[in-house]
Amino acid sequence: MANPRVAIVTGSTSGIGLGIARALAACGDSVVLNGFGEPAAIEALRTSLGAGGARVDYDPADMSKPDQIERMVRDAQARHGRVDLVVANAGIQHTARVDAFPPERWDAIIAINLSAAFHLARAVLPGMQARGHGRIVNIASVHGLVASGEKSAYVAAKHGVVGLTKVIALENAESDITCNAICPGWVKTPLVEKQIAERAQRDGVSINVAQRALLAEKEPSLRFTSVEDIAAAVLFLCGPGGGNITGTTLALDGGWTAR
Ligand code: NAD
Repeated sequence: MANPRVAIVTGSTSGIGLGIARALAACGDSVVLNGFGEPAAIEALRTSLGAGGARVDYDPADMSKPDQIERMVRDAQARHGRVDLVVANAGIQHTARVDAFPPERWDAIIAINLSAAFHLARAVLPGMQARGHGRIVNIASVHGLVASGEKSAYVAAKHGVVGLTKVIALENAESDITCNAICPGWVKTPLVEKQIAERAQRDGVSINVAQRALLAEKEPSLRFTSVEDIAAAVLFLCGPGGGNITGTTLALDGGWTAR
């Protein structure tokens, strides 16, 4: 693959996506940042990620809008001539039992956490196929492998991402195009900090106590996976050692799915 690689990381203004974008930029890859946030904060991120010389652009495409996803890919291809690597990472969460789950939250989670990965792959694959190489990494979740209560839309979307990953892998298996899903357990990002705060409030306990209980319930290591761990997994899958790894899931979950 030509160096520097050209990468799009969706949902990279925060948390896991930002960690992945930072790691790719540190390798000298050209990176398209995407996600929501204050324009000044995003510009500061763009500048800091590019400080080592990598070209870092920002695209505000809304992952719930297929036409904006297609436009983002077209613009990146026009700027760089190609897209080598995409990480479908943008995601949202909502917790409630099925009988109380707001239908509009279901639709938004399916659109952003599942359908966006399809629209992104559909937009980048023709270029990858024409060049005969490419890397697609979908950030799924342990919830792509097992379920938890009160997360119907999230679990359905993430199981869907794992299935989509396998199909993209099979359809492109004879070329140097791979597609894999990373399945993190708990990662301490704003998405999970909100769940810890809700748990603390529900149980009338401190944030620290709620955090320990959250880990103890699911993650045998009793540790959060770091965004750096996930970024390292992306670099591995997209590097030379990942060339014949396709259609699989890589769980970074402290043993969550082992029991
Ligand atoms: P986060 O809330 O820190 O970041 C989410 C990112 O997605 C932000 O940049 C946000 O602006 C962006 N985003 C949200 N809606 C968007 C939209 N419509 N269009 C474009 N961007 C949008 O969350 P995170 O924890 O870093 O989660 C990133 C991914 O990792 C998600 O897919 C999530 O499901 C997955 N994941 C997270 C954990 C965890 O414990 N944090 C565990 C497993 C999987």
